[in-house]
Amino acid sequence: MDNKFVYSFHEGSKEMKSLLGGKGANLAEMTNIGLPVPPGFTITTKACINFYDEGKTLWPSLIDEIKLHLAEVEKTLNKRFSDEENPLLVSVRSGAVFSMPGMMDTILNLGLNDKAVKGLAKSTGNERFAYDSYRRFIQMFSDVAMEIPKVRFESLLEEMKENKGVHNDTDLDSEDLKALVEMYKKVYFEEKHEEFPQDPMKQLELAIKAVFESWNNPRAMIYRKLNDIPHDLGTAVNVQSMVFGNMGDKSGTGVAFTRNPADGENKLFGEFLINAQGEDVVAGIRTPNEISELKDIMPEVYSQFVDATKKLEHHYKDMQDIEFTIENERLFLLQTRAGKRTAHAAINVAVDLVDENLISKEEAIMRIEPNQLDQLLHPMFEPKALADAQIIAKGLPASPGAASGKIYFHAEDVVAAKARGEKSILVRQETSPEDIEGMVAAEGILTARGGMTSHAAVVARGMGKCCVAGCSEIRVDEASKVIKVKNEIIKEGEFISLDGSAGTVYRGEIIKIQPELSGNFEKFMTWVDEFRRLKVRTNADTPKDAAQAVVFGAEGIGLCRTEHMFFDEKRIPAVRRMIVSTTLEERKKALDELLPMQRKDFYEIYEAMGERPVTVRLLDPPLHEFLPHGDEDIKSLAESMNIAFEDLKDRIEDLAEFNPMLGHRGCRLAVTYPEIYRMQTRAIIEAALDIKKSGMESILPEIMIPLIGDVVELKYVKKEIEEEIQLVFEERNDKVNYLIGTMIEVPRAAITADEIATEAEFFSFGTNDLTQMGYGFSRDDAGKFLSDYESKGIFEKSPFEVLDQKGIGKLMEIAVDLGKKTRANIKLGICGEHGGEPSSVEFCHRLGLDYVSCSPYRVPIARLAAAQAVIKESVNVTRDK
Ligand code: PEP
Ligand code: MG
Repeated sequence: MDNKFVYSFHEGSKEMKSLLGGKGANLAEMTNIGLPVPPGFTITTKACINFYDEGKTLWPSLIDEIKLHLAEVEKTLNKRFSDEENPLLVSVRSGAVFSMPGMMDTILNLGLNDKAVKGLAKSTGNERFAYDSYRRFIQMFSDVAMEIPKVRFESLLEEMKENKGVHNDTDLDSEDLKALVEMYKKVYFEEKHEEFPQDPMKQLELAIKAVFESWNNPRAMIYRKLNDIPHDLGTAVNVQSMVFGNMGDKSGTGVAFTRNPADGENKLFGEFLINAQGEDVVAGIRTPNEISELKDIMPEVYSQFVDATKKLEHHYKDMQDIEFTIENERLFLLQTRAGKRTAHAAINVAVDLVDENLISKEEAIMRIEPNQLDQLLHPMFEPKALADAQIIAKGLPASPGAASGKIYFHAEDVVAAKARGEKSILVRQETSPEDIEGMVAAEGILTARGGMTSHAAVVARGMGKCCVAGCSEIRVDEASKVIKVKNEIIKEGEFISLDGSAGTVYRGEIIKIQPELSGNFEKFMTWVDEFRRLKVRTNADTPKDAAQAVVFGAEGIGLCRTEHMFFDEKRIPAVRRMIVSTTLEERKKALDELLPMQRKDFYEIYEAMGERPVTVRLLDPPLHEFLPHGDEDIKSLAESMNIAFEDLKDRIEDLAEFNPMLGHRGCRLAVTYPEIYRMQTRAIIEAALDIKKSGMESILPEIMIPLIGDVVELKYVKKEIEEEIQLVFEERNDKVNYLIGTMIEVPRAAITADEIATEAEFFSFGTNDLTQMGYGFSRDDAGKFLSDYESKGIFEKSPFEVLDQKGIGKLMEIAVDLGKKTRANIKLGICGEHGGEPSSVEFCHRLGLDYVSCSPYRVPIARLAAAQAVIKESVNVTRDK
């Protein structure tokens, strides 16, 4: 039905996530498979979108629909709003399509008013509990729905405790709480100039509006941006009858994962608090008990819970994150969702689920977000340095990883430190959603309070950021900006290191080393390779990078940028002499000095790559990039060349360009100075002949010419370099196979690719320049304004990061079609930054390219994205964020 905006839990299912949000869909699913879920209903995401379209108001027919569903809940539970015997209370919670833990608003105990509080006291036989719930509700409602600062209430509570000479909230009796309720209502009146709403329906309307509006609060917007969640999905609202975990020693609340979210171990992992409500566990305010301890306290409830977790994991065929409440020894499930996990855990869980015959290899492959692999490829502490480091404290291993940085105590200080180029660790008593920007900017997070499911732990794991939580040995003084631990004090700006896998905190900075691919990760990647069609090469300019890429599974080099070899400190004088030479003779002399160095470079790269193909690109950047700029440098170059300082300065000024990226670079250099490309070609071929002699018969260098726009440029350059190759063959009396191809990075080349292919044996799409020239956005300057495009929602992502498939992709498509028309077997690849970006890799797969090429660290990501592209073609799969 088009105008249905509210669904009872028994009307929905897990398939209805886009309408009911993740939480609503799963509450419905749990209800329908017979698990104990307190009754309730979901107001859809479509209603949220409508709410914004209606100028942020709830329209009458929606209110009617809500009332109808409320009546149904009242009937089921035999409870009524505002009842003086047995009142209905509800929770109102957000629930987006993709989970956004802690980012949006929640209101508990809604329905409490002067009458219902009496009813609650009666039905529970606990007046203190009833008034405590009421004062909490007034505060929460005022804060979330009415924007009255929490501190106005908190200070009254503190004052009350002081006057009574007690420390804990629990020391206040029901008379105190009654008095507080009156004071809270007064605050409400002062702030809003009207009485605290007594009508539960009015409370509910205001709460629903607040949840809808929280979709666009700043922290939710940042979270969506970080996780690539579209801004126009809206959130659903779940209205659910309350159950109480804070009714005494036979009640409690908790969160559990069916497997360990840090390493994937197949063992129930979670925490609970006795006599606590709702968010207490997640907020990390009290350090909770381990889930296994529940077995001793309430054995029956525990075994019922374990059965429910098993049922849920089998039903969803994935690791679940489950929230539960126990009310007087009765278990209720309040939420289930696919558990957020580290990449390490994600791989282990996926591989285990395949081994347990719960999912297929294809499903396992689709379960891993390619970019998440990044976490597994990052450096870890060097074991010896780690053993020598001073341990200062131990906390909970909340999110794995290794991080060193200067400590800061406030999110904004971490953000400022990052802007100064410092690495930092965010240290907090406990984190809250307001800290999100600081958590993003920090290398790691350390909190003194909170458990494994605290906000810090959950969010850090989601971000793949190292986190040690619940480190109760340290005292965090956020005001004085120091950590006190045993007899030591660590001040803001001093270094510490965190081992998030062990939960250890060290003093100082610890050096790091590269990880290896092994165990389940290796196994998983072999499955990935069984599925993908695209080859994955790497962009590497040094033997070290090449070797690293091979470890990560690179099948060749797709782009070796030779200019990076020119920038070497020892070579730059010769490079500079080559550039500023005014005669061919002089230039050749400088090039002769560079030749053996380049030959050695190529030899070592071929060696590192073994039998794998290597594409070497001839010099690309504008010459002026290599020139000395300061007077001191110019002077020393002039001296070494034996020419006058002023003459050299003039020459350098001559070489300066207004628009270097569109200037004298790429093949244009070779038109002016063919001897540069000739030297490089000679080095490539001589190194190939050398390595062939040493036994690597199959060596097949691929020589790539940059920045071709017109086939006539390619013809000219190709003729020059082929002449040089023949010379080498004659001199050496030996031969080697080779290919000559070009980058397609100038739009004109893309649309005349049929002509270009008459000369080129391969194309490699340089999508960095193709994006620059296709959009007319300067690569060097676009960062300054593209961030505005992103923040204003004009672009979701910079086209330099994520390939613009429609426009730049269209140019690629044209080039592929035209190129193949001329040369059916033309080899096709991409070597722009997009070659390691998952959605762009998928596009390259669909385009029928032979390979993508990306930086070594993105090779596994591209391999996975390439496999997913194949699987996506055969099934329609969506992935949770
Ligand atoms: C490109 O333009 O996409 C490319 C790979 O070359 P570079 O980034 O070196 O200009
Ligand atoms: Mg380029």
